[in-house]
Amino acid sequence: MIANVGGVVPLSTVDWHGRSSVVVFLNGCPFRCGYCHNYDLLTKSNPTDLELVKKRIKESKPYVSAVVFLGGEPLMQENAVEEIAAFAKENNLLVGIHTNGFYPEAAALLIEKKLADKFFIDIKAPLENEIYNKTAGIQNEKISERIQETIRIVDESSAELEIKTTVFPELVGTKEQIAEISKWINENIHQKEKLTCVLQQGKGGNSNDPVFQEMTFLSPEEMDILVEIVLENLKNTAVFTQTDEEGRVLKKK
Ligand code: SF4
Repeated sequence: MIANVGGVVPLSTVDWHGRSSVVVFLNGCPFRCGYCHNYDLLTKSNPTDLELVKKRIKESKPYVSAVVFLGGEPLMQENAVEEIAAFAKENNLLVGIHTNGFYPEAAALLIEKKLADKFFIDIKAPLENEIYNKTAGIQNEKISERIQETIRIVDESSAELEIKTTVFPELVGTKEQIAEISKWINENIHQKEKLTCVLQQGKGGNSNDPVFQEMTFLSPEEMDILVEIVLENLKNTAVFTQTDEEGRVLKKK
């Protein structure tokens, strides 16, 4: 199969916390988040024979326990993910998928075929269309519905789930917004034992958008104030902060 591949990183220790993985980047994304660091992948075309990707995975296999998909939005190319994930499984590797949550049908298919072990899903904003569309840089009347559906499908499966919210004080990052997101997680995700949450310090420096490049960002101490709000709403959940200064820090388990 030919797919639009952004590249393969042979060894990563940061894209699935606690595991070493080989990372497959797939080009294309329906969103246009102003803070996107991988904006060059959003519109890039690089038709690639997936046999080459499989070869790279084979080369990494002695050093990794998982294949992780990143993008762009990997589930835009559902068939490519399915083929590579099946290959990973044949090689006794776990499969992790970073997704913006916009493709619940693709997530359901991968779960049904037992081809995904962990989903890393962004909740970029409170799950209401207006703020979500603004954050994602698009206009879609089903955006919130589709993301909630993806999370529901993963929660009802045996796959692990990590939810990440990236905080920009001038976009999504007030105490009220963080409380709203964490309350939603608490009320809607039932398998808390396989859930981790990450509050990530947003920085616009690597973005392509001058507005984001100039945006202020929160210090680790300011992030901790927001984490307290998450912890108040999410009991029995592993909550992490992720900042450039301190890296990934577990706040509670
Ligand atoms: S969903 Fe991710 S890849 Fe797509 S535009 Fe937003 S940050 Fe970039």
